[in-house]
Amino acid sequence: MSAHDLNRLRQHHNATIGLFVAFWLFVLISIGVIEFFEVSKRTQDNLIGTLFGAGLVLSLLQFTKRCPKCRAHLGWQVRLGTPKNCHKCGAGLRPNAN
Ligand SMILES: [Zn+2]
Repeated sequence: MSAHDLNRLRQHHNATIGLFVAFWLFVLISIGVIEFFEVSKRTQDNLIGTLFGAGLVLSLLQFTKRCPKCRAHLGWQVRLGTPKNCHKCGAGLRPNAN
C-alpha cells in the first residue's frame, strides 16, 4: 500500500465527515425554512428531493470505499469515514496509525 493510497484514504475520510456535517446543517436549515417560512409545495418538494439526493450521494461515498490492500468494504466497518485499521486484513489506513 503506497503513501498515495493512504493520502487518498485520509482525504476520503475527511471529505466524508465534512459532507456529513454539511448534510445535517442542510437538513436543519431545510426543516427551518419549511417550518417558519411560507414556502410553496413545489419549493418544499424540491428541498426534500435535494435532501434525498444528497443523502444518497453520502451513502455511496461511505459504502463504496474499499481497502487498498484486500479490497474489503470499509464503509461497513465504521459509522463514518474510514477505520484506522482494516478490520479484515489489519492494514493501517491512516498515515498516523500504528
Ligand atoms: Zn484490508
